[in-house]
Amino acid sequence: MRIAAALAVVFVVAASCGGTRNAASSSTPSPVPSPTATATSSAATATPTAAAGRSVEDVIAQIDEAKLVAHMNALVAVGSRDPRNPGHEKAAQYLRDQLKLVSGIATGMHQTVYQGITLQNILVTVSPPSGAQTSVDGAILICAHYDSTASRTPGWRPAVDPAPGADDNATGTAALLEMVRILAGERGSLRRPIVLAFFDGEELFFKGSAAYQQTLAGLAQPIRFGDVIDIDMVGFNPTADRLDLIWYTNGSAGLRDRVAAANDRYKVGVTPLNPQLATDASTILDAAPFGLAGIPAVALVERYGDPDATYPGNPAFHTTQDTPERVTNHRLWLKAAKLALATALEIARSG
Ligand SMILES: [Zn+2]
Repeated sequence: MRIAAALAVVFVVAASCGGTRNAASSSTPSPVPSPTATATSSAATATPTAAAGRSVEDVIAQIDEAKLVAHMNALVAVGSRDPRNPGHEKAAQYLRDQLKLVSGIATGMHQTVYQGITLQNILVTVSPPSGAQTSVDGAILICAHYDSTASRTPGWRPAVDPAPGADDNATGTAALLEMVRILAGERGSLRRPIVLAFFDGEELFFKGSAAYQQTLAGLAQPIRFGDVIDIDMVGFNPTADRLDLIWYTNGSAGLRDRVAAANDRYKVGVTPLNPQLATDASTILDAAPFGLAGIPAVALVERYGDPDATYPGNPAFHTTQDTPERVTNHRLWLKAAKLALATALEIARSG
């Protein structure tokens, strides 16, 4: 009940003002608006008002490379985003501050503790206009982890040593911030809500996203997302504009195909886009807990896949050398953000 009440607070703030309000300061975990709050709000609203909106091409063209770089640099500047490091809270504060600048969204938090380590997931909901579906049951989830690690550096101490995590995953986190900014202006065209999740603890084997998924599934009225798109490590590859499209179990085949179709339809230009099936949690990405729970889930990532002519591997991965200077393929970074945004927007508009 305590969780449900907090969820209602988050939702009411969003539905009543539609402007720059933020519930992130709530001290109670608040994963998403509750079904109860949704029903109450819907009863008080008029007819659905979802409009056509701008073309997907025009929307994804708004992703700003300079903003991506600025976000990456700010996230790296905290020193480390390992949840045991003081820099982590600075990064979380940076995200909250950036989200406060965006109108028309609802921001909440979900907190969990893993082996004594507090993990903070930050959730943003972009809801359709009043009258369209406002429950996040069936919503599209776009996610990226903002924590970092340098566990491959010998002698690395999580609480005090650097973990810049520029490619992994300030690139995805920055892309998610840009998606929030742009999607907030597209609410009028949505038929389904979009939740954007800044997950914590991915480097501890996706403990933040897994706890969030379990929280939703464990509610008196369980919440299931309709589709999940994860973005993780997308700015390094110096050889090709390649991404791997990880799809979790056969239940994600339809979403996999939809991402591939969007890459073609909107001329995003990820080449090659390599589908790879994941069937268990050994493919460690935040899409995993959702996909393995039967929710269509994919991840856009350069990390997985055998090194070959189009992917030399990122030698700085999980080391203190994962710095912004090594994130040199900004074109790929833009393409990854565009592909995630185009796919999510297309689904959210189709109802
Ligand atoms: Zn990562």
